[in-house]
Amino acid sequence: MMEENRPYELGEPPDLLAPPHLLAQVFDLLIGQWHPDSVEQHEMGLHLFTCSYCRVALITLLCVAEEADRQTGASDEQAHALRERWSALHRHLEQQQVQKEVKES
Ligand SMILES: [Zn+2]
Repeated sequence: MMEENRPYELGEPPDLLAPPHLLAQVFDLLIGQWHPDSVEQHEMGLHLFTCSYCRVALITLLCVAEEADRQTGASDEQAHALRERWSALHRHLEQQQVQKEVKES
């Protein structure tokens, strides 16, 4: 049946600039305007672990940062490593979510 093969549905996208989402902070972090302390880093990590919208936003911004570094000749190793790490984690978490939904259906 078609419905059984359909990936889980995304609802209406949330406003990523409004709490608890972190798009504004992620952007400020990547441009060096925000320097989170250890508590803020921990809270950010917790949210990114559970919110695929903010994870995708982070990965997208890291892609942009990587490309911008490449075009200006700056070292893109840090953005590249971060993007690889978050992309792998995102794939892993999305897979877990799909498996969970298959089990529940
Ligand atoms: Zn979020």
